[in-house]
Amino acid sequence: MNERESLQQAKRVVIKIGTRVITDPAGGLDEGFLRGLAEQVARLLERGCEVVIITSGAVHLGRRALQVKRKKESISLRQAAAAVGQPEVMHRYIEAFGAHNIRVAQILLTMEDMRERRRYLHVRNTLEALLSNRVVPVVNENDSVSGEAVTFGENDKLAGVVAASTQADVLIFLSDQAGLFTSDPRTNPGAELISTVQPGEDLSSCAGSAGGPESLGGMAKKIAAAQTAADCGVAVVIADGAEPQVVVRVLDGDAVGTLFVPGQPTQARKQWMATATEPTGAVVVDAGAKAALQQRDGASLLPRGIIDVKGDFEAGDVIRILGPDGSEFARGQTNYAAPEVHRIQGAHSSQIEEILRHVGQPEVVHRDYMVMTTPQGPSE
Ligand code: GLU
Repeated sequence: MNERESLQQAKRVVIKIGTRVITDPAGGLDEGFLRGLAEQVARLLERGCEVVIITSGAVHLGRRALQVKRKKESISLRQAAAAVGQPEVMHRYIEAFGAHNIRVAQILLTMEDMRERRRYLHVRNTLEALLSNRVVPVVNENDSVSGEAVTFGENDKLAGVVAASTQADVLIFLSDQAGLFTSDPRTNPGAELISTVQPGEDLSSCAGSAGGPESLGGMAKKIAAAQTAADCGVAVVIADGAEPQVVVRVLDGDAVGTLFVPGQPTQARKQWMATATEPTGAVVVDAGAKAALQQRDGASLLPRGIIDVKGDFEAGDVIRILGPDGSEFARGQTNYAAPEVHRIQGAHSSQIEEILRHVGQPEVVHRDYMVMTTPQGPSE
């Protein structure tokens, strides 16, 4: 069975719909698109699939209702627009899906809900309970309460987090482009559609520009979210939302859009570390330590391999692990706070007690609390 055909076995499906896909040129919600989506979801449910939708459109509809000019928009006005638009988005989903006797449920999330593991597990359990009751959860960011520090920023990332946390088989990004191209197809007529991306492939040369004025994502953000979800074992497809029956075709194994082949599924705790947390600090390791950590069944991170500490963190926080060139290759939960790591960096584990004057773990990050991540360029 090839990689496309294996999508026919997918049971749990997450579909992400961006503002530019769900709105029509006149600026309202595209009723035809929503009807087509509901009809396809009905077919998936008949096949025994479970479906989660991540939708945008709230801010856009709210802006229209309040007649807000984007240029003059403050953060609180954007949040007010989301509050006005969100019930309207749900109203349209209830109508379109109700025509097929499908019940939908609204879930609004902030990054903060996902950062703390206990809250994250509550969200995951709620989604599980909805799915086992044949309800289609319709998820959006809770824009009206997300302060700047706790925002996902765009729904691409949110979709990746939801897909990984629910251990979805496939995440489908419905985009206004046919998939990922070798270069930006809007400016380069020779750009070619990339059909398949293998785990860990370097895509830095194909990341297109950011989307249009209504969209916060853009192709570069989609690629980052897609690679993270694929690292966690979720197959990801980016495809053209305007193409008829596109979701059904993806799940029939047709060669539509770009498929990110999933890596090995990771344990639930590791998925959370890779997707749901925004680490505030990092350690830089030498080339030898990097190679040892990257090996299959590799080592734990010992103080000896650490050459620098960045940012601030407490024991128990998730931190980035950077190679000597400053790019992230792993994340993990640290046993030591930043000032302690600073003091023991370069030392042998047997010296930890003498340096810190208390007995501690021999490793800074234990192997079981570490996850490899796809390189995403130097971290600031
Ligand atoms: N959450 C925003 C909305 O509903 C959209 C964010 C995005 O476009 O990624 O309008």
